[in-house]
This record gives sequence, structure tokens and C-alpha cells, in this order.
Amino acid sequence: MKTLARMIAAGSIAAATLGLVALPVAAQDYPTRNITMIIPFAAGGPTDVIARIVASDMSKTLGQQIVIENVVGAGGTTAAGRAAKAAPDGYTLIMGHMGTHAASVALYPKLAYNPETDFEPVMLAAGTPILILARKDFEPKDLKEFVAYLKANEAKVNQAHAGIGAVSHVTCELLNSVLGIKPTGVPFNGTGPAMNALVGGQVDYMCDQIVNAVPQINGGTIKSYAIATPERNPSLPDLPTTLEAGLPAYQVSAWNAIFAPKGTPAPILAKLNAAAAKALDDENVRKRLLDLGSDIPKAEGRTRQALAALVKSDVARWKSVLKPTN
Ligand code: ASP
Repeated sequence: MKTLARMIAAGSIAAATLGLVALPVAAQDYPTRNITMIIPFAAGGPTDVIARIVASDMSKTLGQQIVIENVVGAGGTTAAGRAAKAAPDGYTLIMGHMGTHAASVALYPKLAYNPETDFEPVMLAAGTPILILARKDFEPKDLKEFVAYLKANEAKVNQAHAGIGAVSHVTCELLNSVLGIKPTGVPFNGTGPAMNALVGGQVDYMCDQIVNAVPQINGGTIKSYAIATPERNPSLPDLPTTLEAGLPAYQVSAWNAIFAPKGTPAPILAKLNAAAAKALDDENVRKRLLDLGSDIPKAEGRTRQALAALVKSDVARWKSVLKPTN
């Protein structure tokens, strides 16, 4: 019997068989053109910043440019819905996060996608501790005063966030529920613009991923009362933990991760995972991520399975914490 190679060489292969062999060849050559990475929030915020740092190194490894496209709206769920419906060919990816790919499920009864079944996990890009932030001239001097002030003034304080289901929204919902308050929420298209409003003094406080806040805190343009992790962060060594500062009940961190549409071929996912892992081992990438306070996943956290498990457990966790909004 002729081997497949000899059949191809002899030009005697049937058209139908050619169709069958086309997929692995395409996956093997991948990528042959630019890749789009959708960012569900405005430029300049944590998701955008992490994506640009990681994607620029992945572009070098893959030999093709990863082009960043910011698609804003509905707490990041507009972009995630679009990414879920994109062709599963490896040329559309999304930098999702704990909001788009976990917490949103609890808040949107008609969410246009299922993070667990409509995506292929590629890799966890960064863990991001949550900070309690305020405009620099906000009256309370420390976390205890902040808690007392919010309880006494809940009707007049306002809190910025990046839309329903965004990390800044759900992590501050958690804070507000610990304090038993319902402040006025002010939505933005991402915490990049929300941070500008905080710096400009148009909003009072916000909960956000550390990546957005380190330069601003160090520059004195905003202040932070605490980091909601058990340990202090090396990028902000003077910032107390919520445990130290008197609010041990408030503990929360977030994450950003790369996803592809469901059905993206396994060899392409493996290439993307390897390129992302290589990026996280690059000195320059590591320095930039660590300087901004993020946690870089170690080997066991870089597998596609680890990300699938994280999404699953966080979907369940946020479902138990949050109630759907209209
Ligand atoms: N950190 C933001 C959030 O609240 C989004 C962003 O990255 O701009 O989900």
C-alpha cells in the first residue's frame, strides 16, 4: 500500500483527503499573519497594560505582530462576547480577567457567552492584588477612618468602577457589603479612565488591580489605604494589608488571562501557551510586571488546565457572593 507521503507526491490523493490534511499543516505554519488580541477595556488600564507587556514579547516569539484592539462596554462583556464568536483559528485572542471570565456570570442573567464552554484557556498572564484607592485629598487618613467615613457618609460618596461585572466593580461590591454601605457607583470604560477621574478628584474611591495604581501612589497623585492580600507587596512596601490595617474580612485578588475561541486547534493553543510562558520568563517582561506589583504565575499555574480550573472555581465563588443586576 502506498504511504500518505507517496500518495501526495504521486498526486493521486483524493480531494477529500486533502481537506483532512489541510488543518494540521495550517496549524504547523501558524501564525502567518497578524494576530488580534482584544482588550475588553480602555487603553491605559491594568488589562491593557498587562496585555501590551506580554503580547509584545509573544509577537517576537511567534514571528507575527499581536495587534491590540480595545473593545469597551458592559464591564468587558461586550468584548468577551465578540471574542467568543470569532473564528477559532488562532488569529483572535482576548485578554480576559476575573470579571469577564468569572464574576460576570453571576451578574448578567443573559450573558452572551459562557466563559467555561465558549473559550479555550491559553494561559494565566498575571495575578493582580486589589488595592483600596482614593483621591489624594479624600478626608480619611487611614483605613479605620475610611471605614468610619464611608459608613457615616454613604449617601454622598461615589465610587468609580469599570462597568458591571468588572473587577473594580465586583471587588468593591465585596468591600461595600463588608461595610454594609451602598455608595453611588460611577462607571467608566476601564479603570484607565477611572484612574484619571480619581487623580482629577471627580470620584472619591475605587478598588482596583495594583498594576494601575503603583505609579500613581508613588507619584502622590492618589492614595491607597490598604492592599487586600495577606502579605504586603514588594512594589509598595509601605502599604499595609487589610489585615494589618483593621479590615481582615476584606481579602481579594484578581487575575488576567489569555483565552481563544472554543475550537481553536490544539497545536495552535500549544504554540500560544508556549509563547506566553516564554514571555513570562523574559527578564524585561518580568521586571515590568513585578514593578507594577503583579504576581507572575509559576510553572504549575501556566498550564491550560490550571486556567480552566481557575475559571471554574471563580465562576462558582462569585456566584455565591454576587446577585444578578438588572
Ligand atoms: N481593572 C479593570 C476592571 O475593573 C479593567 C481595566 O483593566 O481597565 O475590571
